[in-house]
Formats: sequence, C-alpha cells, structure tokens
Amino acid sequence: MSSAVRSVSRGFRRGRGEGRERQDPYRRDAKRAGSGCCPGCGAVYLRGRWTWRGRPFGAQAIECPACERIRERTPAGILRLDGDAKNRAELLGLVHNVEGRERALHPLERVMVLRERRDGIYVETTGVHLARRIADALRRSFHEAAALDFALGEELVRVRWPAPPRGGALRPRRGTSPSRAATRPKA
Ligand SMILES: [Zn+2]
Repeated sequence: MSSAVRSVSRGFRRGRGEGRERQDPYRRDAKRAGSGCCPGCGAVYLRGRWTWRGRPFGAQAIECPACERIRERTPAGILRLDGDAKNRAELLGLVHNVEGRERALHPLERVMVLRERRDGIYVETTGVHLARRIADALRRSFHEAAALDFALGEELVRVRWPAPPRGGALRPRRGTSPSRAATRPKA
C-alpha cells in the first residue's frame, strides 16, 4: 500500500456487509476443475482463472464470482467520494476509466453500483483490487489521499475520499453519532 493511502479503522458508518463474518465464497468456490463460461457476462474460467478469452469447447455454464456478487448485492468495495457538482463529472469519468482498464485485465473487477449524490458519488465494486485502484487514481489526479478501512479479513474495503483529517475533527455527517464524534480522542 502506498504510504500516501492510509488505513483507518474508525470514523466510518456501519453499513451493508459489516458483521457478516464469513469466508469469501466468491473466490474460494471458484477453484474447480475443468473449464466454464459465465452465462451472465461471458467470462471464461480456465485452469483456475477467469479471463475474457474465447469460450473453450465443452465449457460448462458457471456463474462467475463477480456476477454472483452483483446478484446477491454483496460488494467487495464500498466507496464514498465527496465532491461538489463541479467535480462530480470528473469523479465519474475517473471511476469509468479505471474500471475499463481493470475490467479488461481482470474480469472479476467491476463497478456494480454507481450513484450520484448531492455531496459526491457512491460506488460499489465486485473486487477489493478495483476499489484500491480507484483510490490510487484519485490520489494521483487530485493530490488527496483516500482512507481505506478493511473488514472481513480484507475481503471488504470501505474507501472514503478525501480521507478525513487525522486525529478527529470530523465534520458531523448524516448518520454519524454526534456523541461519538465528540468523544474522539485528540491526536
Ligand atoms: Zn459473470
């Protein structure tokens, strides 16, 4: 991890996916013999990996882990990117570009939800890798680091950009308990 991207473990709202302690069935169950093709997206499973190559002869239909996550609405990355109306288009463009690049190389890395909000954009990804790549791209483009918060044995990452200032001083946000914010220890 880049030193400019720091991890924090507090200051996040509890959200979907948290508390669901489990192994990651999306990757683990993917290891199987033979070849397969996902009926949802056309990704091809061959020799233990998912690729975009042509469908091999005799490939059986196997739902890929990314389509499974989308169907079950279980993201691996949850990103909240703050921005005003002015730079929202820029943020959307950045997410689209990074996804296009990563998805071409890694079929299981996709954006599954992309929502514009009054105060920025909200993104869910099917892979932790893509979420980290988006965080890296934001840092390079805007010279501001993101905060990454891992959970579920690093199978879920929450990204908040820009990272809240160190040592508290969080602006009160919707859904953040004022008492909790007030009792944050000073750095
Ligand atoms: Zn698929």
